[in-house]
Amino acid sequence: MEFENKQRQVVPQKCPVCNAKQKELSMIPIGQSEDRMIMHVTCVKCDNALMVFVTQNDIGTMTFGVMVDVHSAEAQTIFDQKPVNDDDVISVHRYLQAGEVNIQDIVRL
Ligand SMILES: [Zn+2]
Repeated sequence: MEFENKQRQVVPQKCPVCNAKQKELSMIPIGQSEDRMIMHVTCVKCDNALMVFVTQNDIGTMTFGVMVDVHSAEAQTIFDQKPVNDDDVISVHRYLQAGEVNIQDIVRL
């Protein structure tokens, strides 16, 4: 997916919070591949942000956005992290099983 060509097509036409026009939305690409794209969009007028996820396949292009409370740099950091794998899950299980921490204390954080 060529981001430059698709960028304006998949970004909301206006801010979902304050209705500012598209030209007042700042768009930062977070990740992209041949058939997927993730953008962080910030309204420069009201400072609210959303993540826009775009997937393209044989049927067409699917786009959805979610309001977020992270800035573009934070979003980039989150998406740059490696995915959780089986070893990570086993490590957490062993850590919790060792009883060094109460799961209720973690949930309250
Ligand atoms: Zn706005």
